Amino acid sequence: MEHKSIALHPSSCTSCMLCVRECPDWCISIEAHSEPDLESPEYSNSRRPSMKNVLDKFTINFGDCMWCGICVEVCPFDALFWSSTEIEPKPTAEHLILDQTQLTKFLPGAIRNDGTSAPQENDPPSGRRKK
Ligand code: SF4
Ligand code: SF4
Repeated sequence: MEHKSIALHPSSCTSCMLCVRECPDWCISIEAHSEPDLESPEYSNSRRPSMKNVLDKFTINFGDCMWCGICVEVCPFDALFWSSTEIEPKPTAEHLILDQTQLTKFLPGAIRNDGTSAPQENDPPSGRRKK
């Protein structure tokens, strides 16, 4: 499959920031906040409920992206995928920054590095940690 864009499954993203740190061109930007994890089993038994990160904003600057695939490779939570969907308009030398709503549109047909299909927009977080 030709890699024409990178897709994000937002509900799988834990805002761990690994892709931000590993991207060699600083293309990825994330804003997130912490809030109590109401679904955590410890929540009702603990004075200090466990917290979870909530993604507010995720962008990729395709104007700077060199298509190395490191972000897809390193994401431990199965949130980033290769997509064959064209970015329109095409990225130029000027910045082209797409947000999570736009990156989600690349999910149909997107694949993991092992060739399996990416989750779709309304699928639950896979939570799958790669080995
Ligand atoms: S493909 Fe490479 S350059 Fe592009 S966003 Fe991912 S890590 Fe950064
Ligand atoms: S590495 Fe994956 S889970 Fe972590 S911030 Fe990036 S997309 Fe989200």
